[in-house]
Amino acid sequence: MSELELKGKTALVTGASKGIGKASALKLASMGANIAVNYFSSENEALDTVKEVQSLGVDAFAVQANVGKLDEVDSMISEIIKKFEKIDILINNAGIIQDGLLLRMSDEAWSKVIDTNLNGTFYCSRAAIKLMFKSRWGRIINIGSVVGLRGNVGQTNYSASKAAINGFTFALAKEVATRNITVNTITPGYINTETVEVLSDKQKDAIMNWIPMQKFGEVDDISNMVGYLASNNAKYITGQTISIDGGMAI
Ligand code: NDP
Repeated sequence: MSELELKGKTALVTGASKGIGKASALKLASMGANIAVNYFSSENEALDTVKEVQSLGVDAFAVQANVGKLDEVDSMISEIIKKFEKIDILINNAGIIQDGLLLRMSDEAWSKVIDTNLNGTFYCSRAAIKLMFKSRWGRIINIGSVVGLRGNVGQTNYSASKAAINGFTFALAKEVATRNITVNTITPGYINTETVEVLSDKQKDAIMNWIPMQKFGEVDDISNMVGYLASNNAKYITGQTISIDGGMAI
């Protein structure tokens, strides 16, 4: 893989203020892509991501938007077009959890998770696809979850949102396959980010029992695959769900 093979390409990474999104932004930047760093509430962290991306010699800016709100996604896309004129690579990474047993799950906890994780993926992909059609090249990489493949107690909303992303990926990959646009989903297991840091030691010990490799993953385990799927080496890979989970989904 040539180091700067994404030179001249533009990537939108949703939820790039921290965690897997930030690592993905840095990976794509290291390959030469200019980056639109989307964030929701963590402005300072997003600006830090921008600085780190720029230090790799590419262009970047931070763009605030709740991906679960269509009007905010529309404004974000307009800002990106104004700055970069196109989107070649879309990483649908922004995601939240609001856990609770179904019996006690509020309408709000259900809707917020579906809006952010699933509707956000829909709004951003629909907007990006239009631009990718024009350039006859594109990469959409969705961040799903092992929980969307296997389910998890207290996560019906999250599991539903992530499982739906797999179906979305299969269908969209078929729709755009002749246009030189690939659509894939990475399904991480437990990766060391803020999401996992908040778990108690007892919860972490319980989770270890489900992981054959007996350890959590690191953000680079995911961002390296993001880089690969965006590269020319992955040009014939589409509609796939790629698990990076230490064997959890086996
Ligand atoms: P973090 O909580 O570290 O980061 C989440 C990111 O999403 C932040 O940048 C946050 O922005 C952004 N975000 C949240 N809500 C919105 C919104 N409505 N609009 C735009 N951006 C939003 O998460 P991780 O890095 O751990 O997770 C990233 C993705 O990977 C998620 O989709 C998650 O479901 C998935 N995943 C993570 C796993 C893990 O173990 N870490 C396992 C499996 C899947 P801000 O801070 O600015 O509000």
